[in-house]
Amino acid sequence: QAKLTGKNRFHVFDAVQDRSVRGQHQTLVRIEQGLERGEFVLHYQPKVNMRSGQLIGAEALIRWQHPEEGLVGPAAFLPVIENHPLAIRLGEWVIGSALAQVAAWQGEGLRVPVSVNIGAHHLQVADFMPRLCRLLAARPEVPPAMLELEVLESSALESLQQASRVIEACAEIGVSFALDDFGTGYSSLAYLKRLPAACLKIDQMFVRDMLHDSEDRAILQAIIGLASAFRRKVIAEGVETIEQGALLLELGCETAQGFYISRPLPAADLPGWAAGWLPPEDWRSVPRA
Ligand code: C2E
Ligand code: MG
Ligand code: MG
Ligand code: MG
Repeated sequence: QAKLTGKNRFHVFDAVQDRSVRGQHQTLVRIEQGLERGEFVLHYQPKVNMRSGQLIGAEALIRWQHPEEGLVGPAAFLPVIENHPLAIRLGEWVIGSALAQVAAWQGEGLRVPVSVNIGAHHLQVADFMPRLCRLLAARPEVPPAMLELEVLESSALESLQQASRVIEACAEIGVSFALDDFGTGYSSLAYLKRLPAACLKIDQMFVRDMLHDSEDRAILQAIIGLASAFRRKVIAEGVETIEQGALLLELGCETAQGFYISRPLPAADLPGWAAGWLPPEDWRSVPRA
């Protein structure tokens, strides 16, 4: 196989377009081997309170540390396994690794709740709950409340009944849910009522242009208002500038993640980051909404 140049020009990426049975199969085999060889890693992006600077959690984001291709992002390989049982194996590896990381940070005296992304296919597994409980039981030192699961608003809607059952059952054991990329699915009030996720995660698309696009600003205000009316938490993703953060604070959204705050970090870098980060004065001085 010819080696491609450039950071994300990974041959697996071409397999995403290669719809042939053979091409897809080869890619699956490579991913499975990567998993067995321990080539997948999680990076963690801090979630903070923009006013106090408090670290409120970290989102686990998968990467493939490929021996030849370097660090490969999830867009290059997750679509290939989307509807394959391997997605569930990889998903459970992510949950288990994230819990192990929480335990390790706990050992260093650092309390960092983690958020893990769950694929649509994984959420539909009939024995999702007992399998999740087994992963939690393997880490008795980690309280279930240290785990949050992020599910795309759109994938929760694909199987509304199963999604709401899982969200409720998780709430009973202390594991919370966030609706990821919120605002890009249907965002209907009736759906929100049936999906008792504790948190709405505003898609970065609305944050990107919020300073120049009054409609995006209106959408942000509506989601923040919706969260408050339904007593859900709200977090913004994709904060890349000081101005975006300040405007979010003015609109009443205090928690966020984004490149301005921190890029996703290797686990070992998070404690040092947390010890050194302070929100800019502009954020601390925004009056409470
Ligand atoms: P997501 O869950 O919405 O995660 C946010 C993505 O936006 C991450 O990309 C993150 O690096 C990026 N991001 C964070 N802050 C900023 C910012 O300020 N500006 C910009 N432009 N981007 C920002 P990443 O790591 O490439 O992940 C992409 C998507 O892949 C994730 O979107 C999630 O849907 C999926 N994903 C990642 N890890 C996993 C996983 O372990 N399991 C599953 N099922 N999906 C995953
Ligand atoms: Mg996410
Ligand atoms: Mg998102
Ligand atoms: Mg996304």
